[in-house]
Amino acid sequence: MFEKVLIANRGEIALRIHRACHEMGIATVAVHSTADADAMHVRLADESVCIGPASSTDSYLNIPAIISAAEITGADAIHPGYGFLSENAKFAEIVSEHNIAFIGPTAEHIRVMGDKITAKETVKKLGIPVVPGSEGEIRDIDTAKVVAREIGYPVIVKAASGGGGRGMKVVHNEGELAAAVSSAKTEAKAAFGDDAVYLEKFLVLPRHIEFQVMGDKHGNAIHLGERDCSLQRRHQKVLEEAPSPSLNTEVREKMGAIVSKAISDLGYVGAGTIEFLYENGEFYFIEMNTRLQVEHPVTEMITGVDLVREQIRVAGGMPLSYNQEDITFSGHAIECRINAEDPFTFMPSPGNITDYHTPGGLDVRVDSALYAGYKIPPYYDSLISKLIVHGKTRNECLMRLRRSLEEYVIGGIKTTIPLHQKLIAESDFINGAYDIHWLENYLNNLDI
Ligand code: ADP
Repeated sequence: MFEKVLIANRGEIALRIHRACHEMGIATVAVHSTADADAMHVRLADESVCIGPASSTDSYLNIPAIISAAEITGADAIHPGYGFLSENAKFAEIVSEHNIAFIGPTAEHIRVMGDKITAKETVKKLGIPVVPGSEGEIRDIDTAKVVAREIGYPVIVKAASGGGGRGMKVVHNEGELAAAVSSAKTEAKAAFGDDAVYLEKFLVLPRHIEFQVMGDKHGNAIHLGERDCSLQRRHQKVLEEAPSPSLNTEVREKMGAIVSKAISDLGYVGAGTIEFLYENGEFYFIEMNTRLQVEHPVTEMITGVDLVREQIRVAGGMPLSYNQEDITFSGHAIECRINAEDPFTFMPSPGNITDYHTPGGLDVRVDSALYAGYKIPPYYDSLISKLIVHGKTRNECLMRLRRSLEEYVIGGIKTTIPLHQKLIAESDFINGAYDIHWLENYLNNLDI
């Protein structure tokens, strides 16, 4: 097993990885920008290396600086966390070329799944249902018109290299199609350096349901059930839960069997998430994320499996610690993403944390790198904490979540805690009756 792991990330996820490493007796190396010199991930790690100035392009995305940090400190593996370089195939390749283990899948699998067109083609061949749409890239508007007529409006134009909910345009009729394709192409080129776009049916009332999968180098593959991430704003997840209020055991087992067989046939190694839209009892693949997800703790809370530990083990060549039969689901878990933002206008609110008190008690978990006296820098993602709560039933989980949100004190800045408090008191949420558009509609109709 590895002796020292470099964590190529910051914030709560850097701490999450550090914790798994230390429990396994593995030393950690933190990397940080000048703006993060006082960050908790730097304080907790066994060693730390400054890799550049505040801008993430010059620090957390600076491949030569990260590789040098690994070589100087003698790290034998790199964990990329999520975001930053976690889905950069070139990075995975460079890490391996330096005889350092990349804690994640092969560069080839990252590349295949990183392009949504090749990802869709690949999983379709593996027996996973996909959203009806164009066969590959849309190259001219006449073909787009034919495809859209076949699948029926509304349709959605999506960037092959898209991510973070960007590069998507919904089209309601043929009159809007040409303009949408051309603006999606321009946007995709500017954001991702690739103007390839494709077309698919726009599902009107789906839920976002994703399956957690894991594979090892010995041909084993398992699934760890689903997460429901339908509460989204601007295609970004706000709150996640497992199990989904809309799935039953039969459907879960059927879908789980399909995804774990696909992962095994693909020879996939490490943790991954297969994302679906679920409407009228049917699943449609939208994309695969070849990394750990922000919302992985809800799966950990209902299965008891430490996903980061498993990632490290399989990257080191060990078999998965679990067979499919060992995975059992117990109770219900919900995660609230807490951002340093105004809870209703979503304006960023970085700054000094004057007071800090975390909720606790049975089945309450806080994944955060905050502490009293910490100054949140304005340069990075606004996610500052994840509150994850477990209960024997969804109802118990909701009661515990309400109590935990009340207890959580983050002084000095605005956070999205008040939004979560309002949301979980809504009858649609309490009844589990929400789809991917519910939150946007709710926010548009709020009288604040
Ligand atoms: P990204 O990589 O940017 O996150 P995804 O393909 O995962 O993009 O889609 C993000 C979100 O956009 C989905 O969770 C869903 O809310 C919405 N979306 C994507 N494709 C469709 C579709 N065909 N119909 C309806 N909504 C969609």
